[in-house]
Amino acid sequence: MKQIFKDKVVIVTGASSGIGEATVRQFALNGSRVVLAARSESKLSAIAKSINDSGGEAVFFKTDVSDEADCKMLIQKSIENFGRIDILINNAGLSMRAAFIDVDLTVLHRLMDVNFWGTVYCTKYALPYLIESKGSLVGVSSVAGFHGLPGRTGYSASKFAMHGFLETIRIENLRKGLHVMIIAPGFTSTEIRKHALIANGSEQGESPRNEQTLMSPEFVAKWVLKGIRKRKRNKLLTWDGKLTALFQRIIPDVVDWAYYREMSNEPKSPLK
Ligand code: NDP
Repeated sequence: MKQIFKDKVVIVTGASSGIGEATVRQFALNGSRVVLAARSESKLSAIAKSINDSGGEAVFFKTDVSDEADCKMLIQKSIENFGRIDILINNAGLSMRAAFIDVDLTVLHRLMDVNFWGTVYCTKYALPYLIESKGSLVGVSSVAGFHGLPGRTGYSASKFAMHGFLETIRIENLRKGLHVMIIAPGFTSTEIRKHALIANGSEQGESPRNEQTLMSPEFVAKWVLKGIRKRKRNKLLTWDGKLTALFQRIIPDVVDWAYYREMSNEPKSPLK
C-alpha cells in the first residue's frame, strides 16, 4: 500500500475532524503529501503540525466549501505548493435531524451548499489536474445517498445529488483514465450528529446514538485508501448498506419500513 500512495498529492476536505482527519493521517502514514481543508484553522494547524512533526508532509488552507472562491483558492494553493493533484476526497459534510413538515428550509439550503455544492466547487477546479494525473475523485457519502433516510430529507437529497454528479463525471471522463469512487460508511463515531441541524436551524448539540458502538473514523479511512488502491466504483462499508442496495430494487417497501423503524426508534426521534 505504501508504495502506491507515496508522494501522491491528496486533498481532503473536512480534514479538521472525524473521517477527514483520520483519512489525512492515513494518507500521511503511507507517504502522501496531504492538503487539509476545513473552516477551523486552529484544528487544521494542529493536525498538520502533528503530521509534519512525525515526518510527514502536510499543508492546510482554511476553506469554507460552500464558498466557490474558497474552493478555487484551495486548488490553486495546492498546485502552487505541490504542482499536481492526484486525489481529491470530497468529505466535508453536515447532517440534520428534523421531519420535513417541521423544518425551516434554510436547513436544506445549508446542507445542499456544503454537501453538494462543496463537492461541485472543489471538483470543478481540481478536475483538470486529476485528469492529468489519471487520479482519483472521491465522494464520502452515506447509505442516505442510496435510500431516503427519514428525518434527514436535506441530507439524503444532498447525497443523492452528489451521487448523480459524481456518476456523470465518471462517465464523461471514461476515456481519460479518471477514477471516481463513492464511499458510504455506516454510522461512525464523529462530531457529525452534534453539529447536525435541527428544525429551526440550530445545532443538535448531542448524539442520539451510542457513539461507542459505532464504526471508528480510522476504520473508514483505511477503506478509503483500499477503495482507491483497487479503483473501486462504490464502496458500502456495512451489511445494512449492501443489503439496502440489493433489496431496494426487489422489495423497496420492506426497506422503507426498516428505515422508518430504525430512525423512529432513536431517542427523541422527530418522526411521529
Ligand atoms: P465531522 O462533523 O466529525 O466532520 C465534518 C467535517 O466537515 C469537519 O472537518 C468540518 O470542519 C467539515 N465541514 C463542515 N462544514 C464545512 C464547510 N462549510 N466547509 C468546509 N468544511 C466543512 O463528521 P464526519 O467525519 O462524520 O463527516 C465526514 C463525512 O462523512 C460527511 O460527508 C458525512 O456525511 C459522512 N458520513 C458520516 C457518517 C457518520 O456517521 N459520522 C456516516 C456516513 C457518512 P469545520 O467545522 O472545521 O469546517
